[in-house]
Amino acid sequence: MNQLPRPDVQYVVTILIALLVALLVPIGALAMPLPEPRPARLTKAGPPQDIKSPEKPAEPVSAPESVPMPVPRPKEPAAAETAKPKPTEPAAPAVVEADVPLDPIPEPLCDELEAAGEIEFERLPRIVEGQCGALTPIRLKSITPKGGQKVSLENPAVTSCRVAKATLDWLAASVQPAAQKHLGGPIVAFRQTGGYECRGRNRVVGAKLSEHASANALDIGGFERANGVVVPVSDKGGEAELGFLSEIRGTACGPFTTVLGPGVSSHDEHFHLDLARRGRDGRTTYCR
Ligand SMILES: [Zn+2]
Repeated sequence: MNQLPRPDVQYVVTILIALLVALLVPIGALAMPLPEPRPARLTKAGPPQDIKSPEKPAEPVSAPESVPMPVPRPKEPAAAETAKPKPTEPAAPAVVEADVPLDPIPEPLCDELEAAGEIEFERLPRIVEGQCGALTPIRLKSITPKGGQKVSLENPAVTSCRVAKATLDWLAASVQPAAQKHLGGPIVAFRQTGGYECRGRNRVVGAKLSEHASANALDIGGFERANGVVVPVSDKGGEAELGFLSEIRGTACGPFTTVLGPGVSSHDEHFHLDLARRGRDGRTTYCR
């Protein structure tokens, strides 16, 4: 038999194996899966797509303090900030609160009276009490006509500056001259006075509201003389007292539009004086 020597066979086999390995290794490498290609950041069909989150801009790289940092570009305003409302869109109605000034509400007549200094009073907050109330009430304390006697109110009455002014005019022009004439001297105080009260006329529940319910009235139950003697409002009394009361009751009609007293139901012991508006000019009087 013509056999190759054993060492030669082993040599050939070794060479063949080596060639086979050398051939297979590149093939195996080519057969390994390639990584997916990165998606292109730019496409020809569309605009650039910014994949960065707009809320999280890239943190600037920290640098030594000695190195001047470039001035960052001002951030461009967001679209929502620059967008103007369409002119066709109706503007939402603004919520406007009622422009009611807080107390006290201006009252020019009160300013005049304060400047004149004849009437001592205190401005009060507006009164809101159901159907009753007053925007510019005052607490009337005393009246001192220029060059005349001071007349205090026994009970400072809550009323209005209009009523206070009417009382001043009546006091100066009529009450003190009548007191001098009938009583021999001036009066120094109004007694049993009453002002604001939320009630119906003659205190009848359900009746039309009294002028007292709007601080537009003043009740006077008596007149105190300098000697301390009080002339009560009444239809009983001496000639002097009745003469005094009759005269001032008559002269109150004019400064006041309503004057009620003894002989009228519920008014036998006081004069009721108010400034109710009647007639076209608001000055029509009702005096009984
Ligand atoms: Zn009254």
